Amino acid sequence: MSPMFVPGPVDVAPEVLAAQAKPMMPHRSKDFEEIFRRTAEKAQKLFFTQYRVFQGTSSGSGMQEAGVRNFVQEQVLSCVNGAFADRWYKCAIANGKQADKIEVAWGQAITPELLADALKQKTYEAVTIVHNETSTGVENPVKDLAKVVHELSPDTLILVDAVSSLGGTKIEMDAWGIDFLLTSSQKCLALPPGLSLAAASDRAMKKAETVSNRGWYFDLVLMEKHRLKDSTPMTPVMPLIYALDVQLDRILEEGLDNRFARHAAMAKRTQNWAIAHGMEPLAPEGYRSKTVSTIKNTKGLDIAALNKFLQTKGMRIANGYGDLKDKTYRIAHMGEITMSDVDALLAAMEEFMK
Ligand SMILES: *Cc1c(COP(=O)(O)O)cnc(C)c1O
Repeated sequence: MSPMFVPGPVDVAPEVLAAQAKPMMPHRSKDFEEIFRRTAEKAQKLFFTQYRVFQGTSSGSGMQEAGVRNFVQEQVLSCVNGAFADRWYKCAIANGKQADKIEVAWGQAITPELLADALKQKTYEAVTIVHNETSTGVENPVKDLAKVVHELSPDTLILVDAVSSLGGTKIEMDAWGIDFLLTSSQKCLALPPGLSLAAASDRAMKKAETVSNRGWYFDLVLMEKHRLKDSTPMTPVMPLIYALDVQLDRILEEGLDNRFARHAAMAKRTQNWAIAHGMEPLAPEGYRSKTVSTIKNTKGLDIAALNKFLQTKGMRIANGYGDLKDKTYRIAHMGEITMSDVDALLAAMEEFMK
């Protein structure tokens, strides 16, 4: 298998891919409910939560929509410092919410001070924050941001998108006081796309009961009713649940701390390499992602040519996102990627640069 250093869909281990080929069964059967129950239980460890984890049939964006639909009647504040954060803001508007945003330049992090200023001006039912901005390689200080919300506006719910970091970076939902934490299957969890996971706090679920117009397919109150019976209102994406079952075993076998350390070490190696070659990460020090490094292309590398060269060695990286195309490039080091894969990539990049 040749490693793809792209921020999703990432490489999937052969045994995890194979798990999807297990025969289907009735989803309302004891056998399937047992699998559904144990995947949810194992997922709680990954989310560092005692609360429920929903297993949804959609990519992660579906849970962004569920978040604003279920936990916000009117007023939501979006913290925007990149493409995915902006999508969540647009998602709120598209769902008829009165969304405000605080915005900083792409490549910068949302600071607690900025959030505090906004919370002092208006009361919001929820704030949306992207933990790891995949477009810029910035990790927002979610723990500190959550603290500010708890201090200044304790009733405001904290909704966090951790699509490109959960499973690669430690995010302690309960300890940090996050109310809704969502991710997708095809990034750090190293599963095929099509499954979303999202944990919701009790107070968030209580709030959802009071919100009208939650919709139907993404109504978490309805989903919760079925989840309590280890089931879903609609047909779940069974092949991905089979794969999740196997992959969560593999993740827990590696050990969460080992897994987080592996991701952090690969990020450090990649970012130090870039700096040593005269190319700075876009994110300032202290806010650099552990799962995807966005590097300023100050050496003027032809990214398309670089990728062509890398593909002769069975590897590929990602170009910059949107306006950052060719101005930056992105090396994702998540999921199944190991340090020796990173070493091989950086050696190949050196060869290309010669
Ligand atoms: C990839 C990504 C998304 C979108 O996820 P889908 O699974 O494609 O819906 C949202 N947020 C972040 C931070 C992402 O990296």
